[in-house]
Amino acid sequence: MSAKTKKVEVKKAVARELLFGDLWDFDPAPESAPAGISERYGLFIGGEFVEPRSGEWFDSISPRNEEKISEIALANDADVDAAYSAAGKAFPAWSKLAGAERGKYLYRLARLLQDRAREFAVAETLDGGKPIKEARDFDVPMAAAHFFYHAGWADKLEYAAPGRDLKPLGVVGQVIPWNFPLLMLAWKLAPALALGNTVVLKPSETTSVTALKFAELIRDAGLPKGVVNIVTGAGDTGAAIVRHPAAAKIAFTGSTGVGKWIQRELAGTGKRLTLELGGKGANIIFEDAAIDQAVEGIINGIFFNQGHVCCAGSRLLVQESIEAEVMKKLKLRMKSLRVGDPLDKNTDIGAINSKAQLGRISEMVENGVAEGAEMYQPECKLPKKGFYFAPTLMGGVSQSHSVVKDEIFGPVLSILNFRTPEEAVEKANNTSYGLSAGVWTDKGSKYLQIATQLKSGVVWGNSFNKFDPTSPFGGFKQSGFGREGGRQGLLEYGELV
Ligand code: NDP
Repeated sequence: MSAKTKKVEVKKAVARELLFGDLWDFDPAPESAPAGISERYGLFIGGEFVEPRSGEWFDSISPRNEEKISEIALANDADVDAAYSAAGKAFPAWSKLAGAERGKYLYRLARLLQDRAREFAVAETLDGGKPIKEARDFDVPMAAAHFFYHAGWADKLEYAAPGRDLKPLGVVGQVIPWNFPLLMLAWKLAPALALGNTVVLKPSETTSVTALKFAELIRDAGLPKGVVNIVTGAGDTGAAIVRHPAAAKIAFTGSTGVGKWIQRELAGTGKRLTLELGGKGANIIFEDAAIDQAVEGIINGIFFNQGHVCCAGSRLLVQESIEAEVMKKLKLRMKSLRVGDPLDKNTDIGAINSKAQLGRISEMVENGVAEGAEMYQPECKLPKKGFYFAPTLMGGVSQSHSVVKDEIFGPVLSILNFRTPEEAVEKANNTSYGLSAGVWTDKGSKYLQIATQLKSGVVWGNSFNKFDPTSPFGGFKQSGFGREGGRQGLLEYGELV
């Protein structure tokens, strides 16, 4: 066959499937706003950036291209102790401040974040690897929304618990993960502050930058010194926060393993605890669903934020009668996903957060294939530098396969099918987790019937990954306990008297 004929055939295929991805070279569309990242960040204790007592620092690199973007202080036990001491000193005045005054500070933080939204979005993308369109349109606006929402509660606490008094707990220790660094900070800080607590917070080692930039906003907002203290470091720093005797409560989001360790550590101490841990969400597609919308929901459910989402729809449950059609459409849609530089506005799937996480994902997928799973990945060119993983389907699997049981926390979807609604519920609940699920059907009554049978903290109907500060979020079983967001999340930071 001549080269000329070959070319014509490729064009025909393009016209039929409307796939342009690899045939057209798009110009890059890099986000151009400056990220405003300092070369070095100290610890934020008592309202100012201070040198770590440990004298140690570590590099923060961008998963986008493995280049160093900043140097971060490594807090040891003495640093954590200093942070608790500053928070303890700030507590009496902050907790006695009128709610309306605390609310003003929270409003100010929300507005300052909005003012610098573009800069925060670029910093979040550089530091964590998520696509700029997600950082810009989801993480940053949603973080601001949490501060606005809780600012509204600060002077209305008597309505949060009618007939009771809601008192702050004291100094709260908070440890957050790397998948939504700024948003998780907002989920944790805003309700704690609205209620009059003071805080010691640790971001993840791989994503400390936006928390430290947020410390600048705290300073600019004029928040009284010591109300929020941000200490950076790795697991040992987190453990020091958990163990510190001055902590009235620990709020943790992260892996189930570390969550279990924290629970054991706190047993018998009287400290309050909320845990938001992993998940293995079922995305259930019934034969009467609008298939094209459902396919978009599957894509969003697993590939949003490279699948680094505790509530990701990482187990697809599709009714057998439509499985072939759904799989065909899903594979076609996956071919049009653009994987690459997260700073490019056209990118759908950005960089995996760290080399370690890329290794974990690769290993779990390899194990899945060794166990007999059929792997599908669309052809896509991955950047040579940085940490990237192609969107992946794992078919031909059953409930006992590791890729169906274990949280992968990457862009990897396992495919199961079912025949009856009862089987769908049985399979969806057959997991040690219980954080999220999605149900796709044309029938409202079917959605309601299924949703009430799913042991899952959140069940989305004909949608996935929808969030709102007014809506409580949290898990069942090994996905943890306690709620974040809404009135329920607020109550986790107070004592009813
Ligand atoms: P971790 O649970 O280790 O990290 C979450 C946070 O806890 C980070 O700030 C981490 O610090 C801190 N931490 C680590 N060890 C301790 C400790 N002993 N005491 C207190 N804090 C601690 O998650 P990984 O980063 O190791 O990710 C591993 C897996 O966990 C992922 O593959 C994913 O499956 C799951 N995960 C789930 C998340 C969720 O939202 N549910 C979020 C993140 C991970 P540092 O990072 O600095 O070490």
